[in-house]
Amino acid sequence: MKVLLATEKPFAAAAVNGIRQIIEDAGHTLVLLEKYTDRNQLVTAVNDANALIVRSDIIDTNIIKAAPELQIVVRAGAGYDNIDLETTRERNIIVENTPGQNSNAVAELVFGMAVMAVRNMYDGTSGTELKGKRLGIHAFGQVGRNVARIAKGFGMDVSALDPFCPDEVMIQAGVKPVHSVEELYTNNDVVSLHIPATAETRGSVGARLINLMPKGALLINTARKEVINEPELEEILAERPDLKYVADIKPGNAETLVEKFGSRVFFTPKKMGAQTAEANINAGLAAARLIVQYFNDGSAPHQVNR
Ligand code: NAD
Repeated sequence: MKVLLATEKPFAAAAVNGIRQIIEDAGHTLVLLEKYTDRNQLVTAVNDANALIVRSDIIDTNIIKAAPELQIVVRAGAGYDNIDLETTRERNIIVENTPGQNSNAVAELVFGMAVMAVRNMYDGTSGTELKGKRLGIHAFGQVGRNVARIAKGFGMDVSALDPFCPDEVMIQAGVKPVHSVEELYTNNDVVSLHIPATAETRGSVGARLINLMPKGALLINTARKEVINEPELEEILAERPDLKYVADIKPGNAETLVEKFGSRVFFTPKKMGAQTAEANINAGLAAARLIVQYFNDGSAPHQVNR
């Protein structure tokens, strides 16, 4: 089988070597398309591919139509909102992700940004500590669980909201389950967002929820920019000079926010949550293993387009 590794932002060489080894050891062929600058290069490359590994690369109807032999797409990473699930479903193409492989990396970044924010972006003034602060985790998936683990080390008081996660899972992790989103925002000094971008969650965190947060609160977003209502974020930061917002994804109105609110906001220059050598290698190798597994026995344990 021909496996295409198509990455506009390439994997580290160690990850590519590992992927190649897994694919070739199983008797398949690996073809690389890295740092492509024109989507037509991707259209051409998928033409005879049986399997596709991507990162944040957009796999829309055009790409899928250009890939008549395609059987499986694996997103090396967690979020799969870059892949057109409906068209893949119509074509019976399996789509999988590699959950959990980059979640520690993202969780560590949450705390990198949290410490920076409570220390006033290291501006020379006296800040506060995370110890004793209340942390609300909005979605208790792979990243949320790693955030909870690290928060315990900081001595934070941790609660979480996730309608799809049983309370026992949270309780076992020493986390208090919360069942209303209003309660989560009202009762926490720090809220960390880990909801996926879905029809339900897009734009769902706006002025109403953020305004429930207590004085001096911090909102951290390492999920997706789309889950924030950006115009309302701007409004509420203007109304509430005590609030801070830090994100791993530049909002559409980033320049205005920085201009208006200075060091109360911080954005990584590009999405950096999963940008560690470890996460890179873990996700790439997991993607390669899923493809080999699928061609071996037809199983797809992390299928997301059923
Ligand atoms: P995950 O699939 O393990 O967890 C997502 C959790 O969200 C699940 O537990 C699910 O039950 C919960 N959920 C879904 N809808 C919800 C809702 N309306 N309210 C509350 N909870 C809800 O994914 P993950 O690995 O934890 O990643 C979470 C998100 O973070 C991803 O979807 C992705 O968008 C983002 N992410 C960003 C980076 C980055 O580089 N910054 C890296 C990985 C993931």
